[in-house]
Amino acid sequence: MVQRTLAILKPDCVRKNLIGKVIKKFEDENFKIIAMKLVKLNSKTAGEFYAVHKDKPFYYDLLSFMSSGPCVPIVLEKENAIEEFRKVIGATDPAKADDGTIRKLYADSKEQNIVHGSDAPETANYEIQYFFSMKELVENDDKN
Ligand code: GDP
Repeated sequence: MVQRTLAILKPDCVRKNLIGKVIKKFEDENFKIIAMKLVKLNSKTAGEFYAVHKDKPFYYDLLSFMSSGPCVPIVLEKENAIEEFRKVIGATDPAKADDGTIRKLYADSKEQNIVHGSDAPETANYEIQYFFSMKELVENDDKN
């Protein structure tokens, strides 16, 4: 089933000038870009986005990190996109991520781990709508 997932190039990715390299990995893995923008979150908007983590001990650190600079939310489409994208980014902790994954290649820590990827269809829908209106989602007419 063709699915959509939400990726975010996190503030560490933008600061380290890795936007191009990370998007290249998405393209190499045949994800189609459906929508993309550069935004700067603040503690309120980051808190809304990460509301599922509000009881975690790292919640306030995460909000502070995610609002520390611009980030790049991207909607990606592919067959089985949610699970496939999680494979491409690797485990949350880069020390535990498989070789060749984005987090293994570029991430510094469990918190500053370069990229976000939705973990389930319900969260993907919420996350996509959090950043993009219907009008901003481009129809993928790729026939491949
Ligand atoms: P993900 O789905 O792989 O992104 O991981 P989670 O949903 O568990 O956590 C969301 C984000 O919170 C992660 O991507 C990290 O940026 C951050 N995070 C997760 N675990 C920790 C932790 O133990 N400490 C800190 N400081 N941040 C964490």
